[in-house]
Amino acid sequence: MSALAQRIVEDHAAVEPEITDGFHLVIDALKLNDINTIYGVPGIPITDLGRLAQAAGMRVISFRHEQHAGNAAAIAGFLTQKPGICLTVSAPGFLNGLTALANATTNCFPMILISGSSEREIVDLQQGDYEEMDQLAIAKPLCKAAFRVLHAADIGIAVARAIRAAVSGRPGGVYLDLPAKLFSQTMDAEAGAKSLVKVIDPAPAQLPAPDAIKRALDVLRQAKRPLIVLGKGAAYAQADDAIRDLVERSGIPYVPMSMAKGLLPDTHAQSAGAARSLVLKEADVVLLVGARLNWLLSHGKGKTWGAPGSKKFIQIDIEPREMDSNVEIVAPVVGDIASCVAALLDGMGQGWAAPPAAWTDAIAAKRDENLAKMAGKLRKNAAPMDFHGALGALKTIIQQRPDAILVNEGANTLDLARGIIDMHKPRKRLDVGTWGIMGIGMGYAIAAAVETGHPVLAVEGDSAFGFSGMEVETICRYNLPICIVVFNNNGIYRGTDIDPTGRDPATTVFVADSRYDRMMEAFGGVGVHATTPDELSQAVNAAMDSGRPTLINAVIDPAAGTESGNIGSLNPQSTVRKKPA
Ligand code: ADP
Ligand code: MG
Repeated sequence: MSALAQRIVEDHAAVEPEITDGFHLVIDALKLNDINTIYGVPGIPITDLGRLAQAAGMRVISFRHEQHAGNAAAIAGFLTQKPGICLTVSAPGFLNGLTALANATTNCFPMILISGSSEREIVDLQQGDYEEMDQLAIAKPLCKAAFRVLHAADIGIAVARAIRAAVSGRPGGVYLDLPAKLFSQTMDAEAGAKSLVKVIDPAPAQLPAPDAIKRALDVLRQAKRPLIVLGKGAAYAQADDAIRDLVERSGIPYVPMSMAKGLLPDTHAQSAGAARSLVLKEADVVLLVGARLNWLLSHGKGKTWGAPGSKKFIQIDIEPREMDSNVEIVAPVVGDIASCVAALLDGMGQGWAAPPAAWTDAIAAKRDENLAKMAGKLRKNAAPMDFHGALGALKTIIQQRPDAILVNEGANTLDLARGIIDMHKPRKRLDVGTWGIMGIGMGYAIAAAVETGHPVLAVEGDSAFGFSGMEVETICRYNLPICIVVFNNNGIYRGTDIDPTGRDPATTVFVADSRYDRMMEAFGGVGVHATTPDELSQAVNAAMDSGRPTLINAVIDPAAGTESGNIGSLNPQSTVRKKPA
């Protein structure tokens, strides 16, 4: 540079204050709060945001569809207790992400959906902008909180509010609406830096009232047949040691809800998972820890729970309004699980009397009987495979590789895997959650690999896989250690239905004998076609050893499944069948 040019540059720098803009402030605000990963799909108006975030050292994982980016953000929130970030374009991209935001809120996972949007002036006058939509209004009923930012100077406070809303109290989804014009708004860099907020204590401890603890212990002490139910709130809380202490010091049998499996190893002597029906029916006092009495627990009443009035429920939850949601809670304990469990342990002291042996012996006998019944089925090495044979192979693999994360969705594939595959460590089982939703598979698998670095085994029904299957390209692009097993039985529930008119394929069947493994090969990953449990086992082990993206097409007998898996009762069937026209 000539001396003159040098002087011009210097003079310019002296008079021009350093500036920043909306793009940089969003990134700086996230980074200041230790949020370093974004899941999203680039496009107008947030393309440069992703690019700049990557340049600023953030991990930016670009998906093929926003729903899966959103699911990734949600499960990242569950795994880390920090809000997962999903970044989308306006209107259609936003709507695609919204399914995941609603699902996160329903499951109590903290996430923030950040969507670019069109200009307020045009949207509010409904003058027909590019991708015009009043996104804030649409998001509001589907999440915990929704905010819009119009001025760059407010970005810091908006991100802080979004983080606090997502993780404090009962966690959930938050929507942040960022109109296109905001991104290029500039402001003085120093003022910009000062406008950012590092959230102090984003999820403050919420201590239970001493009365509530005393009441709960009084009820528990009277119990003849006590039971603990651990839910995914307990898994989320990361109070693993305290929860283990509570279970072991009380001697009370426990059942884990699906995503709480592994909080204590499923092989634990006090696990009543394999005697679930018996304990739900017979228990007299039930302590719920981060589990809701929703449909997954038959609302705390009916056949599942035995004689009416035979139960007393104690419930630990951070959300006061959860109490009495379905049945009376005789001892509500409101607070965060770590604090509540610590207080219970304190109150129990050391000499807590174990539950009567008649109760624990009956459970042990039932459990052993059920496990023995199952064991034979799990060893079957037939082609085509049935669910039990295939899952028996995968059970052994998870036992040998307890750090691997299991993602699971489907109907039969879900219900049977949940029962058969033991989990040995906390937060290793990620599945369809509160809604029993399909389509979480690849999003959850990708975030699990990105957030933990551990290998991921995604066990997918062929139908379930279809919802997010295109993300195998994402998995290959980022070279993630994910092994997908598609349980291919040619259709939904089973692959044997026919159209009675003979015209079309039946509504529940897919192309017979598809080769899902070739989808993975198309993007440079490893594809395997497995017809026996032995082949399946070999292929999964190879994938886990190599860490290479792998998809195994596991051929399952099309006649092996049952309609709707375990929840057939929710699927109404007509008793009137008209003759085909
Ligand atoms: P599951 O489906 O496993 O039964 P749910 O999602 O129904 O679990 O229930 C989880 C419960 O845990 C929710 O009611 C939620 O408010 C609660 N929860 C989540 N995190 C915490 C926490 N840190 N402390 C206390 N309760 C929590
Ligand atoms: Mg199927």
